[in-house]
Amino acid sequence: MTDRRLVLASIAGLFGLSALRWLKGSPAHAAEKFEIEKTEAEWRAQLTPQQYEILRNQGTERPWTSPLLKEHRKGVFACAGCDLPLFSSETKFESGTGWPSFYKPLDNAVGTTEDRTFGMARTEVHCRRCGGHLGHVFDDGPKPTGLRYCMDGFALNFHPGNSSAS
Ligand SMILES: [Zn+2]
Repeated sequence: MTDRRLVLASIAGLFGLSALRWLKGSPAHAAEKFEIEKTEAEWRAQLTPQQYEILRNQGTERPWTSPLLKEHRKGVFACAGCDLPLFSSETKFESGTGWPSFYKPLDNAVGTTEDRTFGMARTEVHCRRCGGHLGHVFDDGPKPTGLRYCMDGFALNFHPGNSSAS
């Protein structure tokens, strides 16, 4: 009886350990090289704590907290880390999720990686120039792409004006 309990306990222990290692796995693109690279200290000095948590630490803002949800002017949404234009206001739509949503990024703006944290297979989206984490992309979006880029508003800066960045 005691032996059996011991075996069960150690099996549980093994599972716990591997689950932990899996959750703490670094993002797949961490080893990737980006055009703009800064030290942790430089990013911390440049970004607000919330921006840092999202962009550099793969964080997620609480839904319905981004002022950009209500942003309906023409313009461009740029990376809060390096100001690269990422999304046009023309592709923004109301997803009802509480996060700013777009059906398409601008050309040559974002990169993606497979994200398997928290037991879900999701596609992570980051800025192609500085590697800053922006959110995730899902395949339940509207036409014409059928994609839903679910972005953290605090990872973006809005620049009103011309909505076709260049
Ligand atoms: Zn960037």
